[in-house]
Amino acid sequence: MDICLKCGAEPPLISQICHKCVRETVVISRLPDVLRMIDCKSCYSLKIPGTWLEFDDLESAVSHFFESSIIWKEDLSQQKTTQTLEQLDPAKFRVKAKTNANYGGLSLESNLEGVVEIKYQVCQTCSRHAGGYYEAILQIRTKQKSVLDAAVEKVFKDIDSSPSEFFSTENGPAKGGFDFQLSSTERARSLARELMIQFGGHVNETNTLVGRKDGRDLLRHTFGVRLPSFLVGDYLLIQEKVYKVTRLDRRKAKLRLMEAPYTKKMVEIDTLRTPNILEKPVEVQIISSRNDQFLLLDPYTHQTVEAVSPSNWEGETIQALRFGNETFFLWN
Ligand SMILES: [Zn+2]
Ligand SMILES: [Zn+2]
Repeated sequence: MDICLKCGAEPPLISQICHKCVRETVVISRLPDVLRMIDCKSCYSLKIPGTWLEFDDLESAVSHFFESSIIWKEDLSQQKTTQTLEQLDPAKFRVKAKTNANYGGLSLESNLEGVVEIKYQVCQTCSRHAGGYYEAILQIRTKQKSVLDAAVEKVFKDIDSSPSEFFSTENGPAKGGFDFQLSSTERARSLARELMIQFGGHVNETNTLVGRKDGRDLLRHTFGVRLPSFLVGDYLLIQEKVYKVTRLDRRKAKLRLMEAPYTKKMVEIDTLRTPNILEKPVEVQIISSRNDQFLLLDPYTHQTVEAVSPSNWEGETIQALRFGNETFFLWN
């Protein structure tokens, strides 16, 4: 029969050692001799091989560093750590930790204590921010303010939800639209593409030489995004007929005729450079009706208007759209 190699006790054994001896001799975790981390003095990012990890505050960075410094014994599972941090000076933290893990079915604990020394540097993102660094310019151009607002909002949202190394050094209204100076050419290129896919239009990419580094040309890229003057959901007046924009994709717009026979057609956006965009539709009050003869209240002029419904009209609501001095009715 197997017995404990240390004390001769009977099973249960883990690797031929009884539980009591395991508890007395197995150490599940330890710390390296020196705990020294490099942290960004302005954003608390922690330097790790190859990159910087972002943290909301210094304590979180210290805590992450301490936890990742723990050297665990092999063959453990369910490792857990709880820490308490005490700041000794601006560059020193005393960390006490309880570590816990499963070893061959036995739950073991051990206590750790160490002093983390912090060396402060400035991370690449912060130094670039401070230096006004940018790689690319994204120019959004459109004649329509509602389109510009929607596109600009999308770019700001994308920057906000990106890691901090993607940022806008400067941005603001420019002639015919809005400009962004961006920290990454790749991200600027993909943003330009996304704008074109979402809003329609096209992108023009140009480079300018801004210098040389390590024997290579340094180029600054400009992405000129020309967006249409209308959005999906807008109503356009084309040859005295009302169309609704139902889809936009790069160079093409899908339009739906808003009267019988309600046909749909794809058109090149470039053929709609100065489209007649109607104001948003407004509900129309029906004053009276007999068969297909209707008396409507024009919501723009507050005058009654005689109108004839489309043949076999079974709808219930009528909307009005305004362009210039003319009101157009949609029979829904
Ligand atoms: Zn034993
Ligand atoms: Zn930083």
